[in-house]
Amino acid sequence: MIERKCLKCSTWNNDEKFCKNCGAALAPDEIIKQEDAKRAALEAAKPRPKLDILLDKAKHSRYFVVRALFYVIYSVAVIVFAIASFFAYMVAWSPG
Ligand SMILES: [Zn+2]
Repeated sequence: MIERKCLKCSTWNNDEKFCKNCGAALAPDEIIKQEDAKRAALEAAKPRPKLDILLDKAKHSRYFVVRALFYVIYSVAVIVFAIASFFAYMVAWSPG
């Protein structure tokens, strides 16, 4: 039998996963679960970057032109990024 003291109300509980007095999580895995849920909620509450929304809109646009433009811009960005990382790689490997 493990006795756990509640961090919130200082009540001693037996093997319960949650405090019998205030309902706070006591078991480590339950505490981790709660922390995860809190973090997920915070992440969800964050406002999405405007560019992200714009890209998403373009991706699911009714107009083919907009979608095509999205893929063109996206491909260009990927190619530019690939070239940039290639140069970064060259610089990193060149002596001196
Ligand atoms: Zn408690």
